[in-house]
Amino acid sequence: MKIAVVTGASSGIGAATARALAKTGFRVILGARRMQQLEALAKEVGGEAFPLDVCDTESVRKFASRLPARVHLLVNNAGGALGLEPVVEMDESKWLTMFQSNVLGLVRMTREIYPLLDQSGEGSHIINIGSVAALETYLGGAGYTACKHAVRAITETMRIEWLGLPIRVTEIDPGLVETEFSLVRFEGDAVRAKKVYEGMTPLVAEDVADAVVWAATRPPHVNIDQILLKPRDQARADRVYRKVPSP
Ligand code: NAP
Repeated sequence: MKIAVVTGASSGIGAATARALAKTGFRVILGARRMQQLEALAKEVGGEAFPLDVCDTESVRKFASRLPARVHLLVNNAGGALGLEPVVEMDESKWLTMFQSNVLGLVRMTREIYPLLDQSGEGSHIINIGSVAALETYLGGAGYTACKHAVRAITETMRIEWLGLPIRVTEIDPGLVETEFSLVRFEGDAVRAKKVYEGMTPLVAEDVADAVVWAATRPPHVNIDQILLKPRDQARADRVYRKVPSP
């Protein structure tokens, strides 16, 4: 049975991806900090859950040491945004956390799991969750968009460095997805978080999970480089159609 490791599987896109991969026949191993959610999901999908903080090198090493000898798919999903302040109002601790989780965390995970990647037969696959923010910028989004632009650069570099090896590398770039993302970004302000999706129909986590499963289940000689998926109501990162409520 093929083994898939999903980071940030305690909610949102990671949780939906774990469910979808399990349904496709992968044995899933889940990592995140909130163990209660993670263990419940592992039980539901018949997988395993181990604590993981991708910002902490030791935690990543410990997580990797618990994995089986062979891993076929790593979904680097853990991450998110913090704040929406202009550049000149940069909050250093928010920026550091964003770079730690979205960028360094993704590389730490990849470094530790690389020796376990199956390089025989059909090979293995790394799927990095980027964002429309990997391709565009928007007001107040400099910290987060810089992180996701970095994810894009790193993903492309992996593909060059591993050329000739049986390792596929994919980047999945979602637009607005209604998850806990905005609640985290606005530090628990549920009213502000809800406003992000007001009057429009966002993607749901399952839409992104669908894209992950599709990329992961192509024939082994096919590499899906990138999938950019947005709600129909979103033309660009900062251009969203919103229905005005009738008076
Ligand atoms: P979410 O519901 O907030 O999920 C984020 C996940 O990342 C949680 O499971 C969280 O788990 C985990 N995580 C955060 N920091 C972590 C750390 N230091 N170590 C381990 N796990 C960590 O948001 P989401 O929308 O599903 O986000 C998933 C990914 O999609 C992120 O990379 C995000 O940037 C990207 N994305 C989201 C959207 C969107 O609109 N929602 C759009 C494009 C891209 P714990 O807190 O339990 O550790």
